[in-house]
Amino acid sequence: MDHSKLYRRFRTLLIANRGEIACRVIRTARAMGLRTVAVYSEADRDAMHVALADEALLLGPARARDSYLNVERLIDAARKTGAEAVHPGYGFLSENAEFARACFDAGLVFVGPTAGMMTAMGSKSGSKELMEKAGVPLVPGYHGEAQDEATLSKAADKIGFPILVKASAGGGGRGMRIVRSADELSPAIVSAKREAKAAFGDDRMLIEKYVDNPRHIEVQIIGDSHGNLLSLFERECTLQRRHQKVIEEAPSPTLNPAQREAVCAAARKAAGAVNYVGAGTIEFVSDGKDVFFIEMNTRLQVEHPVTELITGIDLVEWQLRVAFGEALPLKQDEIKLNGHAVEARVYAENPTKNFMPSVGRISTWRLPAETGGLRIDAGYREGDTVSPYYDAMLAKMIAWAPTRDVAIERLNRGLEESDVRGIVTNIPFLSALMTHPKVRTNAIDTGFIERELAVLTQAAPAPAELELCAAVAAIVNDERQAAQEGANSPWQTFGWQPVGRRQRSFAFRVGHGPEQKIVLNYGSGPSTLVIGERELAFATVAKDGGFDLTLDGVKSSVAAVIAGHELYLRTRNGRFDLHWVDPFGGESEEHIGEDKIAAPLPGTVVAVLAEEGAKLEKGAPILTLEVMKMEQTLRAPYAGVLKSIKCKVGDIVQEGVELAVVDPAGE
Ligand code: ADP
Repeated sequence: MDHSKLYRRFRTLLIANRGEIACRVIRTARAMGLRTVAVYSEADRDAMHVALADEALLLGPARARDSYLNVERLIDAARKTGAEAVHPGYGFLSENAEFARACFDAGLVFVGPTAGMMTAMGSKSGSKELMEKAGVPLVPGYHGEAQDEATLSKAADKIGFPILVKASAGGGGRGMRIVRSADELSPAIVSAKREAKAAFGDDRMLIEKYVDNPRHIEVQIIGDSHGNLLSLFERECTLQRRHQKVIEEAPSPTLNPAQREAVCAAARKAAGAVNYVGAGTIEFVSDGKDVFFIEMNTRLQVEHPVTELITGIDLVEWQLRVAFGEALPLKQDEIKLNGHAVEARVYAENPTKNFMPSVGRISTWRLPAETGGLRIDAGYREGDTVSPYYDAMLAKMIAWAPTRDVAIERLNRGLEESDVRGIVTNIPFLSALMTHPKVRTNAIDTGFIERELAVLTQAAPAPAELELCAAVAAIVNDERQAAQEGANSPWQTFGWQPVGRRQRSFAFRVGHGPEQKIVLNYGSGPSTLVIGERELAFATVAKDGGFDLTLDGVKSSVAAVIAGHELYLRTRNGRFDLHWVDPFGGESEEHIGEDKIAAPLPGTVVAVLAEEGAKLEKGAPILTLEVMKMEQTLRAPYAGVLKSIKCKVGDIVQEGVELAVVDPAGE
C-alpha cells in the first residue's frame, strides 16, 4: 500500500482527547514546533488541556457521544481550525477504524495505524487468527465465527475449565467472565454478551483457557511507513483491579533476559503480521513461565511513560515522526534498556467504598516536584472539577531509578508527599500497594489486589501525640497567617503580644471516634503542650504547604491543609484527617441521618421535581440524580413542606451533600 497519502508532514495537530493524555500529547507536539488544537465538551470548558493548547474548540455537550466520541464534530473541528492531523490519544476513538477512515477521507493525517490495520487487529478473535498463522503463541481457546451456545459450550469442554469468556470487541475488562465449571457457562455467556452489546455494540464472544495466577506482560512496539518495526521492551502490568491496570512497570521483574528477548521477538512477529505502522502494544498473559498472546492495542497506552523512562525515547515524538512519514531514528540494537520505572494511576475514587468514583472540585492539589527520577503526567490542577462523565484518572506518577527497589521507594515517597483534597483519591491505597512486601518481592498475580483488599484499604492509624500536637500547630500557624494578612491585626500594627501565661484547650476527633484533648500553654516564656500527664516543649515555624514542628527538641516536617474545622495532616506516621471540635465555633453536629435528603453517591442533578413551598406527601419525588449512569429519585422522607432546594439541574454533587430540606408537617 502507498503510505505517502496517509503519512506526511503537518504543522497543526488536533488532539481528539482530554485529561492527562491530551496534555501529554500537547507538550511534545509543542516542543516539536507544532500548533496544537484542543477540543472539549461543555463539562471541560475550564479543563487543563484546553488551557494548554494553542487553540481550543467546543465539541458539544458533556456526554462523550455528543463530544469526544462524535466523529462528525471532530472532523468539523479539524476543518474549522485548519488542523492537518489528529492524535486520538487512548480510549475514546483511538481504536475506532471508522474514525481513522473518516480522518483519511477528510484529508487529515491520523496519528496511528491505518483503518485496515486497526480492523485486522482490533477484534480479539480476528487478531488471534492472524497470530496463529504468524506462529505467535496463543492461549488455548476458541475464536471462531459460530456463536451458538452448543458450539461455545463444546469449545469450553474441549479447552477444559476454568475458562475465560471474552467479548471479541472488548476493552477495559468489560464483557469478560471467568467460568470455573460447565454449569456456570450459560449464564456467564448471557451476561457477558449483554455487557458487550451495551459497551461495544458487538456481542461476539471468544473463549480462552484461564491461565491460573496470571501475570500481564506486554511489549511496546512501533513501526514506520518504510517497513521498519521495533520493540521497545516489555512492561509488566500484573497489579490490576477488575482487569484494569493500577500499577505498571518496565522492564518486567518476572522475565530473565532470554525470556525478554523471546517475548519481544514474538511481539515483533505479531505486529509484523500486519506490517504495523505507529505505536502499539502486544499484550500477553503469562503463567510465570510461558507467555501467550491475548490482544493487540493499536494505540498509545496509558502506561507508555515507563517505557519512555527506561529507553529515553519520547513515544509521542516518535508517533508524530512516523505520522510525518519519517523513518524511525534508531535500529533495534540501538534501543537500550536503562534502569527500572514504575507508574501508579492516581484516580478520583474511594477505595474504602468499592472504588466509587469521587466527583467535585479539587480544592488542594499538591504533588511533589518532578525531580529525582519522578515524573508526573497530570490532567488536572487545583480548582479543577472532576465531572462524572469521564474516566476519573487524575494523573500518573512515574518513578525511574537504576533498580526496581529504588524506583518503588521513589514512587512511594512521591505518593506520600502528595496532597489532593476536595475529592477522594486512591493515593493512600497506591501507597499501601507500593509498600506491600509481596509487591516488593514481585510475588503477585492479577488477583492480588482483590485478595489483599482489606490490607490495602486499612483505615489510617489513630492519631498519636505527634498528630495532636501537629493539629494545634496547624491551627496556630493558620491563625497567625490570617492575623498577618488582616490589615488591622493587633499582631502586626502594635506588635501586640499576650502578657503572662495563657492556656487554650483544643479537642480533636477522627470520624465519630472519641474526642482527644490537648492544652496549649503560651504567652511569656516557651510554649508547651499538655496531653494528659505529659507536657512537651512546643515550637512551630510555618513553611510552604505546612510547617516544622519541634516537640521536646525533635523537629519534624508536617504537611497540612485546613478547611474550616477539618484538618488534613501528613506526618512521619502517615496521613490523618482530624476534625477540630471548636467549643466556641458554634459547632453544629451534622448527621447524615435517614431523614436528610442528600446525595447517596456523587452524581449529577438531572431533574428537580418539586417546587419550594410545595406540600409533600411522604415518598413524594423531589429530584432525580444520575449516579454512575443510573437515575435515582430522592423522595420526601416524611410528609411536610419543601422548605428549600439546594441544587439545580446540571449541578454535580458530592456524596452526603444535602440537596433539599423538608419541614415536617405540623411544625
Ligand atoms: P481488555 O481488552 O478488556 O483489557 P484483555 O484481553 O486485555 O481484555 O484482558 C484483560 C486482563 O485479563 C489481562 O491483563 C489479564 O490480566 C487477564 N486475562 C486475559 N486473558 C486471560 C487468560 N486467558 N487467562 C488469565 N487471565 C487473562
